[in-house]
Amino acid sequence: MSDPAGFPLIERPVPWPHGAKCAVAMTFDIDTDSFLHLEYGKRVPDMVATTSWLRYDEIAVPRILRIYKELGLKQTFFYPAWCMETYPRLVEQILEGGHEIAHHGYLHENSNQLTLDDERAWLRRSIEVIQRMTGQRPRGYRAPVYNYSRHTTDLLAEEGILYDASLMADDVPYVMESRAGEVIELPSHWALDDWPQFAHNIELQYTMTIRSPDEAFAVYQSEFDSAWNHGGLWIGVWHPWLTARLARAEKLVAFIRTMMAKGDVWIAPMEEIARHIRRVVDDGSYKARRVEMPYYRDAIDATKVPQQKKP
Ligand code: ZN
Repeated sequence: MSDPAGFPLIERPVPWPHGAKCAVAMTFDIDTDSFLHLEYGKRVPDMVATTSWLRYDEIAVPRILRIYKELGLKQTFFYPAWCMETYPRLVEQILEGGHEIAHHGYLHENSNQLTLDDERAWLRRSIEVIQRMTGQRPRGYRAPVYNYSRHTTDLLAEEGILYDASLMADDVPYVMESRAGEVIELPSHWALDDWPQFAHNIELQYTMTIRSPDEAFAVYQSEFDSAWNHGGLWIGVWHPWLTARLARAEKLVAFIRTMMAKGDVWIAPMEEIARHIRRVVDDGSYKARRVEMPYYRDAIDATKVPQQKKP
């Protein structure tokens, strides 16, 4: 698709490697049934159909790995560490394929509903599991359900995490500054997430109209075309049990082939994209936007806002 605007819409397009027009990462969050346990507790053993819906991951993850192998791609999988411990064979298969494993909580806990100490404890527990099972510490993090807290940037910087992939404040990567140091943000947004397209589960009280693969991928395609036109970043936030169901998996293969055929596209794991950004920021060849985090350390006191005088 040609550029309908005809002039630049991104203020700071990134100098991508080899003159690529945009960077692409298709990330999968392998949540499986992790998020049921904190929320539903003792009810979970009787949530059999919902658990089976999520355990489709055991079929979907090997299918995704097959697709990546056929297409010659290395990508990033975000993992609640409990899922790594519970389904270790999938982890082995991902590592055999040479892919990156990044941090996605322990039991898919909501970081922004925890105390600072508890958030730190869960974060470290997962780092230990990832280190033990993959041989290296995670380089990246995505907050479960994007539930990023006021403390998260500080904690990620404390732990030496290179990048985050939870936030949505730009079309291109930016540098988050915290008390404890810097974290590169690789932003995405809801239009690139597969829950709004495909997730429908009455028991979880999440009922969306299920889109056809053609409709869903048309949303992703338009975002990709614009990223390509303007030097942006395109990060799919997907789930194996949603996007790698059979008809969607077929469409996924076709979509990746379309992106590859377009040319000048840098498809890379998140770690490589983050390292590229760190490098061009550090050598001065890219002036990234800098954002001080968090947005608010405390709630604003609305009672201090001066009342408007009546005319
Ligand atoms: Zn998740």
